[in-house]
This record gives sequence, C-alpha cells and structure tokens, in this order.
Amino acid sequence: MSQLEVKDLHVTYGSGTRAVPAVRGVDLSLAAGQKLGVAGESGCGKSTLALALLRLLPSSAKLTGEILLDGEDVLTMKWGRLRAVRWAGASIVFQGAMHSLNAVHRVGDQIAEPILLHRGSTPAEAKRRVGELLQHVGLPAARADAYPHELSGGQRQRVMIAMALACDPRLIVADEPTTALDVMIQAQILRLIEQLVAEQDISLLMISHDLGVLADTCDRLAVMYAGRVVEEGPARAVYDRA
Ligand code: ADP
Ligand code: ADP
Repeated sequence: MSQLEVKDLHVTYGSGTRAVPAVRGVDLSLAAGQKLGVAGESGCGKSTLALALLRLLPSSAKLTGEILLDGEDVLTMKWGRLRAVRWAGASIVFQGAMHSLNAVHRVGDQIAEPILLHRGSTPAEAKRRVGELLQHVGLPAARADAYPHELSGGQRQRVMIAMALACDPRLIVADEPTTALDVMIQAQILRLIEQLVAEQDISLLMISHDLGVLADTCDRLAVMYAGRVVEEGPARAVYDRA
C-alpha cells in the first residue's frame, strides 16, 4: 500500500462565475521512504495541492477526490482524527519561514506548541525535546530563546524544519523550502532535509518551481501544468525529457 495516494483530486477556490479551478484531477502516489518532487511554474496549483493534503486550505476551497494517507481518506476524516494525523502523520515545511513563524513568540515556544498539543508532553519534556530538535537541525539548543527576527533566513528555515519534525512525522511535505534563501544556504538546507529524511526514514514530498533542485533530491518527479500532472516518472528521466 502506498503511504500517500491522491486520486482524482480537484480543488476549486470560490464558486459561480468567480470560481478558480486550481487543481484539476491530480493522481499521485508515494511509497513509504520515497522522495517525490512536484514541479511546475508559478500558479499551476502546487501549494494548493500541498495544503490540501492536510486540509489546511481556506474554507472557500472546495475539494473532491481522495487523499489517502496510509489508506485513510484525509478528506472525509473526522476533525479529531485529522488533528492527530496533522504533525504526526504528515507535516509541512512552508515557504518563507518569516511569514509562517509568529514574530512575537520565541522560536522554542513555537516548536514546543505541537509537542505539547499533540504528544501530551509536560512543559519540561517539551523543552528538552525542543533542544534536541534544534541540535538536530544544526542550531545550538540555546537558540530556542531567540525571536524569529534575531535569526538569519537559513536559521529560520532550520527552525521550521525542527517544528515539522516535532511529532515524528512519517511524511514531510516541503513547499518551496529553499526559495527565499541565498544560493549557498539553499544547498545547505536541501542537504539537511535529505539527511534527516534518510536518517529517520521519513517520506518526502517536495514542491519547487526548480526542476533541477528536485531532480537532485528526489527519486521521482511529477510535473504540473494548469492544475494537472502532465508528466511523472523517475527523477532523472523526467529531468532529461524537460
Ligand atoms: P503554485 O503553488 O503552483 O504557485 P497555487 O496553488 O498557489 O500555485 O495557485 C493555483 C491557482 O489558485 C492560482 O491561479 C492562484 O491564483 C489560485 N489561488 C491560490 N490560492 C488561492 C486562494 N486562497 N483563493 C483564490 N485563489 C487562489
Ligand atoms: P489549532 O491546533 O490551533 O487548532 P490547526 O491544527 O488548524 O490549529 O493548525 C494551525 C496552523 O498550524 C495551521 O494554519 C498551519 O499553518 C499549521 N499546521 C497545522 N498542521 C500542520 C502540519 N502538519 N505541519 C505544519 N504546519 C501545520
């Protein structure tokens, strides 16, 4: 059984004459431990797909189809079950850590939140776990006390990755994880993601407009165009055809 299977997914924002069909019949599958890249130009529906996987889309978005995570359909899951699946079943690393992190809270407290909420840890356990996670992503544990603006872009992205790892997810969805970063830092963050998913046997769905980045990191590639997957296959083969 695939870890993730997306079947005939449609996502439309709004309705009537102003309806925007963002995803128009996508099928994808990801086996446990695999790394799948989803490429495509801006506006083709990649972020919508990523957010749909955990039902994190705004309520104006209408979804049909199936999103099976370990065989369970995310789209019909009860709310309580969905909350358990978020973070532990699959976790998302978003683009632009500055917008995704809360500017007025220390980063350690932000990483601790899903741990406290979803793992039922005590504050002391959560604090220890935050320190471990920060070290895991190459930051000193003491950086837990920093506010997002006190960190560099690369460090903030490391914090986002630490947060995504907080509840030991089996799948990480990384949406343009390096886009806002300098080229040198991009390579470091990609290596970090590769190393972490390999060490902890986490599956990866990575989204990027940059086919080259995906071809280096992923086993398989899907290319989207206007809401559809127009090409899918082994990473090198898809890259060479493009
Ligand atoms: P990508 O990640 O590939 O750049 P998106 O999934 O962000 O693509 O966008 C796909 C389409 O959906 C685009 O036409 C975009 O303008 C539209 N869209 C994205 N988010 C929203 C939203 N919240 N409300 C309405 N339309 C949206
Ligand atoms: P709450 O736990 O406060 O009810 P949600 O579960 O709706 O909130 O999630 C709050 C925010 O946390 C979401 O809008 C999203 O940005 C982020 N989030 C939720 N689940 C995940 C996840 N698995 N990975 C990364 N971010 C997530």
